[in-house]
Amino acid sequence: MAEAYDPGNIFAKILRGEIPSQRVYEDDSVVAFMDVMPQGVGHTLVVPKAPSRNILDADPATFGPLFAVVQKMAVAVKKAFNADGVTLMQFNEPASGQTVFHLHVHVIPRFEGVPLKPHSGQMEKPEVLAENAGKIRAALGN
Ligand code: AMP
Repeated sequence: MAEAYDPGNIFAKILRGEIPSQRVYEDDSVVAFMDVMPQGVGHTLVVPKAPSRNILDADPATFGPLFAVVQKMAVAVKKAFNADGVTLMQFNEPASGQTVFHLHVHVIPRFEGVPLKPHSGQMEKPEVLAENAGKIRAALGN
């Protein structure tokens, strides 16, 4: 049986506005914000507002709106950073590498010959995250 969703997880707190984040996009069902330990410049997380631990317990109705925003963010980060490509990642349960137990998709701009940094590695400076968030908002036309 899947483990229960914990409404005290850090992304639930971000969604409720209890802790800060660098938001770049929000609509009725999805939020996108900067990953604080980016694996590359412009690493963004796309998070549905509906509560689920991960893909294993999510309502299938979540995926349409979620992946529409994943695509929007992939296009925006590629443009914002003049990237060569975009990597999507999504982890389910600790054995897979999941560390925050609210469904989310990683959207990471990629550059020829530049490897990803480690998952959940080093914290980025808030001013760098803010600057990168500004570039993504600009690419989104906001
Ligand atoms: P995952 O391993 O897929 O659960 O990834 C969780 C991601 O959330 C990691 O890439 C972390 O760097 C990131 N993260 C953890 N805490 C925060 C936070 N407060 N704000 C933004 N990103 C976070």
